[in-house]
Amino acid sequence: MSEGKPDLSTAAPTAGLSTTPRLFVDADLSAGGEITLPPPASHYLTQVMRRAAGDVVRLFDDRSGEWAATVTVPHRKATAVRLMQHLGPREAVPDLWLCAAPLKRGRIDWVAEKACELGVARFVPVLTARTVIDKLNLDRLRAHMVEAAEQCGRTALPALAEPVALGALLAAWQPERALIFADETGGALLAATLAGVPAPAAILIGPEGGFTPDERAAVRALPQTAAVSLGPRILRADTAAVAAVAVWQAMAGQVEASVNANLTE
Ligand code: SAH
Repeated sequence: MSEGKPDLSTAAPTAGLSTTPRLFVDADLSAGGEITLPPPASHYLTQVMRRAAGDVVRLFDDRSGEWAATVTVPHRKATAVRLMQHLGPREAVPDLWLCAAPLKRGRIDWVAEKACELGVARFVPVLTARTVIDKLNLDRLRAHMVEAAEQCGRTALPALAEPVALGALLAAWQPERALIFADETGGALLAATLAGVPAPAAILIGPEGGFTPDERAAVRALPQTAAVSLGPRILRADTAAVAAVAVWQAMAGQVEASVNANLTE
């Protein structure tokens, strides 16, 4: 968005290149550099998208933004590309965390995907007394977030934290970060609360079985906590997570002043 850049770096990062394959690469991208894509990306580009030498692809690295690159050596396991043009910087992201208890495979994958689409800065799996999932595949969750970012044009990925016990999460809570506690037993009016809770903030969602009374008391005891109700219906945990993030983004995250004041890069 800075002056003097070509049009491609402004409003829509996809402008003029919308049919171009778009891939996340876990490497530092810089002008003129040549990189070799890992096997899954190489397979996708050459076998699925049938791209050949000279074709253009778009790459982003979650650090420097988005780039146009040209395929130099197509290969199904190790395709080489050369970086041609910086299309735009990494997007700024409101500093919102989603802290949610792990759910069954499929449901938690869906939450990770939607959290990425809706623009959370960090996804924190929280282990609670009624969490029934004992193993969480972080690589798989990250893959879902990468795919979501590739598809929806994001140039930033949510950070993915190691699973943390609720007690430890609360004990290490950052003083400046508001904790929006989705309490299925009732809380303050959602819209009014969220409008007054700009970033940095976090949303806390329980597992299918909800929070125990002790957990609820511990969360509410934190001075940063604002307990909210998501309405008169009990939502599934996955629905609750996505609904709360969407409403926060609408009420607080996309208010220009708070976005500008509290962005993570
Ligand atoms: N089994 C519980 C419901 C758990 S719902 C019961 O029957 O009471 C899973 C999580 O989604 C909850 O811990 C809470 O964080 C969130 N949630 C669901 N519905 C909600 C609502 N109406 N208000 C606030 N949070 C809600």
